[in-house]
Amino acid sequence: MHGNMMQWPLLISSIFRHATTYHHDQEIVSVTADQPQFRYTFTDFAARVCQLANALTNAGVKPGDRIATMAWNDHRHLELYYAISGIGAVCHTINPRLFPEQIEYIVEHAEDTLLFADPMFVELITPITARSNTVRAVIVLDDGATTVDGIASTSYEDFIACEAETFAWPEFDENSACALCYTSGTTGNPKGVLYSHRSTVLHALTVTTPNALEIGMQDAVLPVVPLFHVNAWGIPYAALLSGAKLVLPGAALDGESLYSLMEREAVSVTAGVPTVWLGLQKHLQENNRKLPSLKRMIVGGSAAPSSMIEYFETQQDVNFVHAWGMTEMSPLGTVCRLKPAMQQDSREARTAQKIKQGMPVFGVELKIVDDDGMRLPHDGEAMGELWVRGPWITSGYFRNPEGSRSDFDSEGYFRTGDISTIDSQGYMRICDRAKDVIKSGGEWISSIDLENVAVGHPKVAEAAVIGVPCDKWQERPLLVVVLKKPGSELTLNEMRDFLTGKVPKWWQPGAMEVVDSLPHTATGKIQKRALRQQFADFSFT
Ligand code: ADP
Repeated sequence: MHGNMMQWPLLISSIFRHATTYHHDQEIVSVTADQPQFRYTFTDFAARVCQLANALTNAGVKPGDRIATMAWNDHRHLELYYAISGIGAVCHTINPRLFPEQIEYIVEHAEDTLLFADPMFVELITPITARSNTVRAVIVLDDGATTVDGIASTSYEDFIACEAETFAWPEFDENSACALCYTSGTTGNPKGVLYSHRSTVLHALTVTTPNALEIGMQDAVLPVVPLFHVNAWGIPYAALLSGAKLVLPGAALDGESLYSLMEREAVSVTAGVPTVWLGLQKHLQENNRKLPSLKRMIVGGSAAPSSMIEYFETQQDVNFVHAWGMTEMSPLGTVCRLKPAMQQDSREARTAQKIKQGMPVFGVELKIVDDDGMRLPHDGEAMGELWVRGPWITSGYFRNPEGSRSDFDSEGYFRTGDISTIDSQGYMRICDRAKDVIKSGGEWISSIDLENVAVGHPKVAEAAVIGVPCDKWQERPLLVVVLKKPGSELTLNEMRDFLTGKVPKWWQPGAMEVVDSLPHTATGKIQKRALRQQFADFSFT
């Protein structure tokens, strides 16, 4: 027997309607090249989103069309999120840090018809759009100062200028696609993940909850994580549906700029990758500054070192919250919020727990399995491959049904490619990417754990660990470090002394190399593949 409740589709336009009706005087603050201190209310935002929806419709955009964006976090990009999805088209956010060949591949694969780009990306996209078979026009996200060669173009402000400030949002199936994001493709071509309105709204609701990012109308939220990186972890939707103030930082993500913006706008919640927080930490320490309004920092994308967790918790009195997810998961999978009993633990015990990626939020189910697919126990020790399922996890890649099949099992779980443990309390800890884990003497060494400890050495700014073939042990860890003070010295023995007692004896690196910088991916992660290539000739003597 069915229940009697209404079939009310979960649409992005329903978030928009709620936010702009009940939180109409809430603010959006945005930093853009042409307007470094822009601010407006949800009411003004609503008018411009409607103008944009009219402009898109008049430009012939139909439901299901893919409309690309290549832009930093600012108010125009946010308007695109709501107008494109609201009319039933698909907002395809492109990561400008990808290689130009990858961007070209993505634009062609998605068959984008319009491309909205920040002025600073015009040079990058000009050869791509000039060659494209599908892109009809480029709309530059400014007020008319930039032109694009080889294709029809206009400025964003001109595009929306003469349009009406009201729009009748269509109602359609909540399973329709609303957004598209490609993985950064560390192996092979990038793969497209196509989010639905339903999955996005459910995910956004969860993001707001106290066990997750905890966002309400009393908050000022600063997503440092880009809008082109898995929809800024759902914050553009979560902030609006909860009536929070949204602070969009534009392109300046250095410590000084972030500090000034957080200070000025009394930011209470922020989210980003560890590299960004490293920059902020350095700025705060060097200038002896505090962030009194900041309550929660969400860190994800790669593992945060314990030294960073301790700094923000003890020196800035911030709840430093580790989270884990993937493009394929919208992205939220787990969040590390401490259970009440753990709040009473010692500082060391709490940090040891907080370094884990946390418990699944409701809606995400996890399992870890061995090489034969058998489930492993939740004892915090057994390391296995992590599989996930839930309503905002992809069931296949966009226009790639063949490639999708091997990523799913008969129970409907998706293979994450991560190796993890789960403890008896349900807290998951990422040990490695399956392809990065170091296999030494029949045991696994977690490169992430080793990096986390090594980066705590007072002389070390950044650390990476890769496995290098070794006759005796199959593989041994090679530690590659960047020093805080260029030109200073650090020996392998000093590092080994530091690691003693902090990692198992057999995890000790076989060698250490000091480099000026480490290669990073488009999303700020250490690029292990490039590092392995860099040290391809290395051998343990
Ligand atoms: P990309 O950044 O490569 O486009 P994703 O953002 O989807 O792709 O990356 C997902 C992967 O990032 C995860 O499978 C995991 O390996 C890693 N990751 C995400 N969050 C964390 C975290 N908190 N700690 C460690 N690894 C993480």
